[in-house]
Amino acid sequence: MRFAAGLMLAVVLLAGAVATAQPAHAPYAPAEVRVEDATAVRRLAAQEVSIDRVRAGRARVYVTLEEFAALEAAGWEIEWIPDEATAAWKVLHEQGLKADDPLLSYHTFAEMTALLQGWATQYPEIMRLTSIGTSVQGRALWMVKITDNPDVEEDEPEFKYIATMHGDEILGTEVMLDLIRRLLEGHGTDERLTGLVNETVIWIMPMMNPDGWEASPPRRFNANNVDLNRNFPRWACSDANTTTGRQVETAAVMNWSATRFETLSANLHGGEMVANYPLDECSTCNNFTCTVSISQDDDVFQAVSRAYSFAHGRMWQSTDFADGITNGAAWYPVYGGMQDWNYRYMGCMEITLELEDVKIPPVQSLPGLIAENREAVLAYMEWVHRGVRGLVRDAHTGAPLAARVRVAGRAFTTRTNPAVGNFHRVTIPGTYTLTVEADGYLPATIADVVVTAGGATRVDVNLVREGANAFDAWAVH
Ligand SMILES: [Zn+2]
Repeated sequence: MRFAAGLMLAVVLLAGAVATAQPAHAPYAPAEVRVEDATAVRRLAAQEVSIDRVRAGRARVYVTLEEFAALEAAGWEIEWIPDEATAAWKVLHEQGLKADDPLLSYHTFAEMTALLQGWATQYPEIMRLTSIGTSVQGRALWMVKITDNPDVEEDEPEFKYIATMHGDEILGTEVMLDLIRRLLEGHGTDERLTGLVNETVIWIMPMMNPDGWEASPPRRFNANNVDLNRNFPRWACSDANTTTGRQVETAAVMNWSATRFETLSANLHGGEMVANYPLDECSTCNNFTCTVSISQDDDVFQAVSRAYSFAHGRMWQSTDFADGITNGAAWYPVYGGMQDWNYRYMGCMEITLELEDVKIPPVQSLPGLIAENREAVLAYMEWVHRGVRGLVRDAHTGAPLAARVRVAGRAFTTRTNPAVGNFHRVTIPGTYTLTVEADGYLPATIADVVVTAGGATRVDVNLVREGANAFDAWAVH
């Protein structure tokens, strides 16, 4: 019924009648805007509407009635389109959330919670489950930690996945639940999975927007009608890197990230199939003329994005994106997205994975869709073990330090975990110069660091306190 009402509303609007009041359950609805060229896409992005996809000269946006009217008045060619998530949800409600294998089926928030709590009890040696905050409607924001010695800080790289920050893009949650289960069951029996668990601190947030998924029908936005992937601090728009005024889900991820040291991550979406890498923002705020926004780590981002796409069943075969990857701004600019925030503010390289054209696929297709991501989620994660790693310590005391590590020519900074002093900087093979800095210490420069295609090159660095005498300086490196 709600779906039919939505269609009626669209028809009325297109006929130019006076807009009726917004339906309370769906303040935003999908529409398509004609975008004749790349400049038009950028002009549309500058209107602060939530663009979801650009394909074949059409941009899919999620807009209110007012936004729709404003765009139309400004001369944009715009029309409402059926909400495929709503239609898919109707089918799911009629047929149920479960396929033959209940594990390879859709999970409600309550079912997911029970599953995660059960696993945390069953695998206490390698799993911890914590809530890093609560959603607008009070649901737990679950964060899973999987590693050996989960209560001990160790010299291991940290990696994270975050799924379903858009509540109607649910496939990522099921791919993550499948990954969690494989890691838990495979530890001690599968050599590759055992190695990953033992040598990596793996963080997985299977559902960042539980209120969006639990809404009927599921919604892109959180319960305050905010697109969480436009709610992070904007670099180009001189936005302060604080949680002030942000949504509780956004603030929870920001606050949690500030306590951890992951250096590679991905966030999982649906509605297209492509690996999208930074930068999403153009170099200046709402720039109409930028056609691509290349970071200093473009070589790394392209490599890790291909690692996912080439290991995926179909992504690499894309006819819309070469190799199934794209620079974010080259597709359409996003301001306030999570991936740019991770890269520019947090020392974590993040990409955005669009897993499937359909946001809520039929439940019968879930086993196949999950399976075609199984190799990719591991192949991507394994990149956290490439590049350069090491320990940064006080040259005199050997104490681990809170330090910042940079590759010469690149602004991106990797932070050490001060409890251990370890850093992990992903690079592609090559020869690099590292600079290592810590407050109160003389900076160190290490040249000719050779990185191969194998495991990370180890570079341990001992820093000398500022003001130490000349003899002490010999202790460097
Ligand atoms: Zn999304």
